[in-house]
Amino acid sequence: MTHKAGFVNIIGNPNVGKSTLMNAMVGERISIITSKAQTTRHRIFGIVNNEDYQIVYSDTPGILEPKYELHQAMLKFVEASFADADILLYVTDKYDKEPNENFINMLKQATVPVFIVVNKIDLCKDEAELLEIMDKWKIIIPNATVVNISALLKVQTEILLKLLLEKLPEHEAYFPKDELTDKPMRFFVSEIIREKIFLYYQKEIPYCTEVIIESYKEEETIVRIRAEIMVSRDSQKGIIIGHKGASLKKVGVEARKDIEEFIGKQVYLETFVKVDKDWRDNQNQLRRYGYVN
Ligand code: GDP
Ligand code: MG
Repeated sequence: MTHKAGFVNIIGNPNVGKSTLMNAMVGERISIITSKAQTTRHRIFGIVNNEDYQIVYSDTPGILEPKYELHQAMLKFVEASFADADILLYVTDKYDKEPNENFINMLKQATVPVFIVVNKIDLCKDEAELLEIMDKWKIIIPNATVVNISALLKVQTEILLKLLLEKLPEHEAYFPKDELTDKPMRFFVSEIIREKIFLYYQKEIPYCTEVIIESYKEEETIVRIRAEIMVSRDSQKGIIIGHKGASLKKVGVEARKDIEEFIGKQVYLETFVKVDKDWRDNQNQLRRYGYVN
């Protein structure tokens, strides 16, 4: 039996119902959902697991707000959500403004399947109004699949799921299907640290690095975390640590800030660098790091 898995990124203007949609899609099948994840590689918010598939939804709060000073940041953000998506869900409703030309072009040129989700159909006064909105979108983004739903009332959400599954690529699960439920925080914490490593080191370093959360102790006012940064060669250890420890310190400080924001609590983060020779070729280690079952 083939297994499908992928990242479904939900984008759109504020207030069109992105979060409501994600909740509706994740619903009872929820493994993990959080309203705070901002920084992880794939911006994970909700994962839907099934024997044959795993859908990783991410929601992007208010990315298209038409404020000029935000434009650059928004665009970067939108680009990022385009880059790591297997499927793009552009959510809109009858009140929504059309996005700017730039954005429309990005949707048109997307290399992954694009869905235009016309939400809040319960507020349309009749079928003609709904059809008009859908037709408009079919013309604007001809390559998109245009669907209509009511996320709030969960009308047509099953149909949307079916259509998503048709477009979802064949792939192994990206995340352990069970572990995530009881250890979500560790996972997010390691993703945040890994993100910093991707930001601050060059060339092969990030790809040779794995982050293990060795311990995660939640106390009343603080969370104490010990993270091991695994590299595959001795020479990489020195690079990660940097001159007088400066590089590692930067990773630690920046990661801690994001983790604190993510958890909503003060964090004490300790980082250690270890060499795990050629871990990427070692089946046991790959299993330990959650890459193979
Ligand atoms: P977001 O900003 O795109 O994440 O939008 P939210 O999910 O926070 O929803 C914005 C508002 O629209 C909330 O008041 C929702 O209850 C409402 N909403 C979302 N989906 C629907 C829907 O299908 N029908 C109706 N009537 N309201 C909806
Ligand atoms: Mg939202």
